[in-house]
Amino acid sequence: DLQPVRRALLSVSDKTGLSDLGQALAARGIELVSTGGTATALRAAGLAVKDVADLTGFPEMMDGRVKTLHPAVHGGLLALRNDESHIESMEKHGIGAIDLLVVNLYPFEATVAKGGDYDDCVENIDIGGPAMIRAAAKNHAFVNVVIDVEDYAALLSELDNNDGATSLAFRRRLAATAYARTAAYDAAVSAWMAKATGDTTPRRRAFAGTLAQTLRYGENPHQSAAFYTDGSGRPGVATARQVQGKELSYNNINDTDAAYELVAEFPADEGPACAIIKHANPCGVATGETLLEAYERAFNCDRTSAFGGIVALNRPLDAVTAQAISGIFTEVVIAPGADDAALAVFAAKKNLRLMLTDTLPDPAAAGLTFRQVAGGFLVQDRDAGRIARSDLTVVTKRAPTAQEMNDLLFAWKIAKHVKSNAIVYARDGATVGVGAGQMSRVDSAAIAAIKAQRMADALGLPESLAKGAVVASDAFFPFADGLLEAAAAGATAVIQPGGSMRDAEVIAAADDAGLAMVFTGMRHFRH
Ligand code: 5GP
Repeated sequence: DLQPVRRALLSVSDKTGLSDLGQALAARGIELVSTGGTATALRAAGLAVKDVADLTGFPEMMDGRVKTLHPAVHGGLLALRNDESHIESMEKHGIGAIDLLVVNLYPFEATVAKGGDYDDCVENIDIGGPAMIRAAAKNHAFVNVVIDVEDYAALLSELDNNDGATSLAFRRRLAATAYARTAAYDAAVSAWMAKATGDTTPRRRAFAGTLAQTLRYGENPHQSAAFYTDGSGRPGVATARQVQGKELSYNNINDTDAAYELVAEFPADEGPACAIIKHANPCGVATGETLLEAYERAFNCDRTSAFGGIVALNRPLDAVTAQAISGIFTEVVIAPGADDAALAVFAAKKNLRLMLTDTLPDPAAAGLTFRQVAGGFLVQDRDAGRIARSDLTVVTKRAPTAQEMNDLLFAWKIAKHVKSNAIVYARDGATVGVGAGQMSRVDSAAIAAIKAQRMADALGLPESLAKGAVVASDAFFPFADGLLEAAAAGATAVIQPGGSMRDAEVIAAADDAGLAMVFTGMRHFRH
């Protein structure tokens, strides 16, 4: 199954590593054929190259829309080298075999990402490139197809290990990678078009990402993993620049996403905010007069859990906040920018990963979320639901005070980002106890209360931080017990969706305990 490589067609938009590759192929006696820009680059490197136009007898035309779409090219890629009639056709029409195709496509995804206008994006939809890739990949029994600069070195060592030939196993691997690329490419076009039409319903778009990074491993070391961008260009962990620090892990990426999506609920112009995340759940979220104060208040919600956490900020990082964050072991910091002094502080912490974006994610933006199930996957709109004061209904005899109302709205934003069942105690724009991911709402309430008590003990305070706090519940209380647990912990006001069969019972219990309670009419399950 070894096949010699005698002739290569190179047609690349990204010319990284091209002249070295051309050099190496020529040195191995391989004839080079190329399209316009690629041929120019190879000639500039002093290499002999044949133009595709000489093969086809047609010039490149229509702004490059038609360059390689010709039987001389596609016949050379698709012909079965062991089939009499195919060989006959090649001879009859003067078609030469092409044994190696090196293509990388017009930068469609990059054009979308940098905000190219509609026509610019359309012009960057590569036609001939994917056609050649698919043809070469189909004929992997004989033909090699390389679509990624990262595979140039592997190609050369394969040739060297086999005396200028390649093995079937190698060509199959290249073909599988090639089809992954054309599938992702068309999916990116489809996603962009769906967005441009303003209709992103799942059946209108294909799903695939562009490989951004292979990861050392997945959630656990025995799982392999990779990171993909979805072409939406949405600000967040997938589009952030890593300024410094160790390579991001799978869990880092997942947690950083949770942190940034949460802190983005707090617009920068309404004041500084900070979220600290562990295992995709917040262990502290706070607003403050300054970024430093927001960080410290978030940290003081649960100092134990914050160790090894992910910190997200809603404003550009400054030096004093960077200094404070450097005080404990932190895995990742993400922010919409950082000033030079802050960068200098972190530079001393080589391992700390710093991720920067130009802007905060837009929490109201449309988008989709995915969840894999055995044999399929679920797709839904991302939870862009938000509640304003005017959406709330007071259901108890006592209405919340102005202070309680502010804290209720604050706690509600956090509860949306906590795994269900979620119970969040908050006070003065800071969480004081978070109960996450329990199968029973009563247990979440109890755990949040325990955390509030523990932190009070650690800070040497006379009473639990839950005393005088408000409480948010991501879904209704099915019974009064969860609410009574919160009241026992010292909460004075409650925010929850309402809608339980036993709402009357729950409201009566709140009235008996002197609580103020508001209904949102919107649920924020997060499983
Ligand atoms: P070059 O820089 O060599 O002029 O062009 C290289 C690019 O052209 C590659 O990205 C390749 O995928 C693309 N390409 C090759 N053939 C065709 C074609 O027939 N039509 C279009 N639209 N693009 C092509």
